[in-house]
Amino acid sequence: MPNFNTHVNFAVLFYPLIVIFYEFFSKVLNYPLPTKEIIGLGFLIFWISADIPDIDHVHSTFRKIIKYLIISIIIYFEFNRGYIIRLFKLETVFYSYSMKILESTFIGILVGRLIEYVIPKHRGPLHTIWSAFIYGLVVFSGYYFLFLIMKNALFLGIISAIGYLLHLILDKFYYEKNGNLRLKNRR
Ligand SMILES: [Zn+2]
Repeated sequence: MPNFNTHVNFAVLFYPLIVIFYEFFSKVLNYPLPTKEIIGLGFLIFWISADIPDIDHVHSTFRKIIKYLIISIIIYFEFNRGYIIRLFKLETVFYSYSMKILESTFIGILVGRLIEYVIPKHRGPLHTIWSAFIYGLVVFSGYYFLFLIMKNALFLGIISAIGYLLHLILDKFYYEKNGNLRLKNRR
């Protein structure tokens, strides 16, 4: 199985190709392209997606980084928009920045715990095609929920799923020996 570097390097090479194809199909299907900023940001999303399946390694650093990245995003949006506060109508309790940062940090840590609990064992369900689709769908709906811009959400959802699939393809067909990629023997 190729390691972190291999997956990221492939993603770096593939991203321009994905954008070229996306631009082509957007013309053919007459559907608007995402904003320029999103295509730029897409590079980050794409290489992260190309390594996401390996968060099922319990001790990987990448898993920890992703976990804290998700916790940070949750704290940022809960602090700024107070989804949970509004859901439970607690505006009068959490009215100051101090109260809000306590609440949003608590929610972030809670989700972090939940992530540790739900991530399955290595090379289990996360290394399947279904997970790639679900992952793409989560990125798509997450972005749409936060920003309500369909053309951007669609682009990010599609490139996330493709990045994830790229990982599965590399895992399936190649293994690494002394730093070189080799094709697996097909039986
Ligand atoms: Zn893998």
